[in-house]
Amino acid sequence: MESYRELTTRRTEIGTPMPLESFGMDPMFGLDDWCRHCGTARSDQWGSLVLHSWKRKRMPRGWTTKHGEWLCIDGEAASVVAEAVPDVRLEPVMWHAGNRGPCYQVVPRIDQRRWFSDSAIAGAALRRGHPSPGRRCDACGLFRWFPVELDLLPLDEVPGLEDPVVASPEVYGDGWTYLRHTVYRADLAEVLTDATDGELTFEPAGYPRDPIDPLFL
Ligand SMILES: [Zn+2]
Repeated sequence: MESYRELTTRRTEIGTPMPLESFGMDPMFGLDDWCRHCGTARSDQWGSLVLHSWKRKRMPRGWTTKHGEWLCIDGEAASVVAEAVPDVRLEPVMWHAGNRGPCYQVVPRIDQRRWFSDSAIAGAALRRGHPSPGRRCDACGLFRWFPVELDLLPLDEVPGLEDPVVASPEVYGDGWTYLRHTVYRADLAEVLTDATDGELTFEPAGYPRDPIDPLFL
């Protein structure tokens, strides 16, 4: 995990995933590959992120959608990133309205190997102040951990990773919130920062941060 970075940029509410009724999940994961009760995707993303444009703001080089779920870069940055890191998966973003030109989503692969033991996450969740480690979804039966920052977890338990962008097999969240820890290989993180003129920033994965990441409030 030493060779991986976490995204620290938070540009929220830039572009709304569409359609609103599925929070953008239907075009990305299909009608049946995500739980409509807890919002959790059951498989890797295969379709496109569809965004409703935003008004007045200039087009950024790199940004995340609300809550930091999806990372996007503009077309110029994408061509630099694709050449420097050929194994990264970039998917064209579709515009629902208000076409802002070519841009791409940096798509993670969901790792199938456990990153952390149940006891490690449960301990971190309780230390984080949650009343219990998590909750099981009534509809799909998946156990979601209450959100815990990566720096509270024992990174030495994470097995070797190779992909440019990897999402944790463990799912975190509550209510209609679906989160996976997502890490970026160091070479990709560096190129993303350079190609977006510093608009995307990263820190070593698990690096203690203060204040607490707004993703997890
Ligand atoms: Zn569910």
